[in-house]
Amino acid sequence: MAVETVFLNGEFVKRSDAKVDIEDRGYQFGDGIYEVIRVYSGEVFTMDEHMERLYQSADKMKLKIPFDLQELSSIVCKLIEKNDVEEGIVYMQVSRGISPRQHHFPGGDISGSVIAYTKDFKRPSKQMNEGVTATLVEDIRWLRCDIKSLNLLGNILAKEEAASKGHFEAIQHRGETVTEGSSSNVFIVKDGSIYTHPATNLILNGITRRVIKDIAAKSGVPFVEKTFTVDELLAAEEMFIASTTSEVMPVIKVDEVNIGQGVPGPVTVKLQEMFTGRILTECKVQQV
Ligand SMILES: *Cc1c(COP(=O)(O)O)cnc(C)c1O
Repeated sequence: MAVETVFLNGEFVKRSDAKVDIEDRGYQFGDGIYEVIRVYSGEVFTMDEHMERLYQSADKMKLKIPFDLQELSSIVCKLIEKNDVEEGIVYMQVSRGISPRQHHFPGGDISGSVIAYTKDFKRPSKQMNEGVTATLVEDIRWLRCDIKSLNLLGNILAKEEAASKGHFEAIQHRGETVTEGSSSNVFIVKDGSIYTHPATNLILNGITRRVIKDIAAKSGVPFVEKTFTVDELLAAEEMFIASTTSEVMPVIKVDEVNIGQGVPGPVTVKLQEMFTGRILTECKVQQV
């Protein structure tokens, strides 16, 4: 694409013209929220769910988004059209706006800053087929992980630890309890049932997680929202992580320990097939 268009505070502008103020609270404090939304075959996947979560995150941190849900959804669609995105993502963020630096809210009618841009991104087919590896990391994040906040320092440190050791993801745990990945939810298969951390303040309730829950219900695989320990994870029959960009991603090894047979397990593969089916019906995507 020659000239990429981005959305910045009410206008579609050229990427090179999109500049952020040094006193934007998103920039100074990470005082804002975001969403990553998937585009398959030029069509948005689970748009409403992402939009609703954005507004829920905003409510939880008392942030007012200066557009309503329909307006933001149509901005996302326009951006995809303008940039001619086939396979990719839309990144959207809302910060608490621009004001002289002070910790408490600016007050008055400071409007939130909204930006959105697109990026081409192909389905990670090779990794989805072969599986990936992960490392265990203590979860040092704050206690409102249910908000998709711009404050990602804990997540970044976890992911860097994984990346520096050549792993795809960091599996975070608070003491013995597995919470989630640095940017994904974590699932194990035990006695034929899927287990994942309940959607509390300690994890981000992924949209992909919700699609998987729905798929599991339709295919008759028990989906149990109950915590499990690091030892249970290492002894699991299968393990996978899930996110908008990773979809259903098999994890075949955690640090030095093979999970199950050290290859993607049958329940995981079945979920992948059904997930692809879901994409096909929603977005008419090509098969992996
Ligand atoms: C975004 C995110 C996820 C995955 O959510 P999806 O909606 O499935 O992309 C999981 N954990 C964290 C910490 C996240 O930020």
